Amino acid sequence: MGKRSRFTPDVYIQGILAGDRILLSRAITLVESSLESDKLLASQVVEGVLPHTGNSVRIGITGVPGVGKSTFIESFGALVVDQGYHLAVLAIDPSSQQTKGSILGDKTRMETLARDNRAYIRPSPAGSTLGGVSAKTREAMLLCEAAGFDVIIIETVGVGQSEIAVKGMVDFFLLLMLAGAGDELQGIKKGIVEMCDALVINKADGERAEVAKRAKREYANALHLFPAKENNWFPQVKVCSGLTADGLPEIWEMIQEYQTQVKENGYFNSNRSSQRVNWMHEHIRFLLETSFYNNPSIQESMKTIEEGVRGGAFSSIAKAKQLVEMFYGLNKDKF
Ligand code: GDP
Repeated sequence: MGKRSRFTPDVYIQGILAGDRILLSRAITLVESSLESDKLLASQVVEGVLPHTGNSVRIGITGVPGVGKSTFIESFGALVVDQGYHLAVLAIDPSSQQTKGSILGDKTRMETLARDNRAYIRPSPAGSTLGGVSAKTREAMLLCEAAGFDVIIIETVGVGQSEIAVKGMVDFFLLLMLAGAGDELQGIKKGIVEMCDALVINKADGERAEVAKRAKREYANALHLFPAKENNWFPQVKVCSGLTADGLPEIWEMIQEYQTQVKENGYFNSNRSSQRVNWMHEHIRFLLETSFYNNPSIQESMKTIEEGVRGGAFSSIAKAKQLVEMFYGLNKDKF
């Protein structure tokens, strides 16, 4: 790719605040960039829009591939924008890092919504580290809020740690499931239910409608065994069809009800506050880790030390300590 032109931070900031989607997209690209030269500009842009963020309903949606996430978001998104909201969808694509290609990009996803000018859809690369997912997606979300989007959906594939990262940046977390997959209670054991504010059994249409209703009862019974969460909200079980849009209005109502309840009981603010603190800690870890691993002297010593540890000549713990001490020594004047 040729050299992209860069603007001053103010051009991005003013453009985003004016709702300019081209500048919004370019700012998100900056945030996602791993080029050293983009980092300062990206952080200036994010810092600059920060006072204009926070005014959206942040929804996390997860589920295994094929559960119907994109179909759901397409229909649900139409409902939300029809009510006058501006919707941004950030889809975290776990494949983008490993393959350089994108599974999400291969199929045409959310085609109708993508053409709707009240919505903005942006695939977000997963990055090579968990910290990477959180940082980039969170910053993209903030940029979207500053651009005036008041409902943000962060979509993630339910395959691992990215849900935990997403949980840490949204207000409401929704798990899409399928009935009759023989795993009715499995999710509960896995602990994902503790993370969720709603379990939604999708594809409840045609012949599947009855099975879905039965599964809903089973889940609802099982969820009764869980204590109320600190936000005083009992996770809800719903059925819907992303294809026919049945059940979607109830899901949107539930999310709004949740917002009202947690704003009244103070959880909304306390949750956002602790998310901000966690974000700082995440960033500290990220800064420490990247400055350590990118340090040329550390990289040089690492090669020999790794060999020694691999062969069993050196202790892993002793060498870790030695490298960290060396790193502090190298940065004596900086800390
Ligand atoms: P994703 O991988 O979770 O994003 O799932 P998709 O939205 O791409 O859907 C996977 C497949 O399930 C597609 O063939 C869809 O047409 C189908 N599908 C999605 N939602 C529904 C639904 O509500 N009902 C039915 N019957 N099929 C659906």
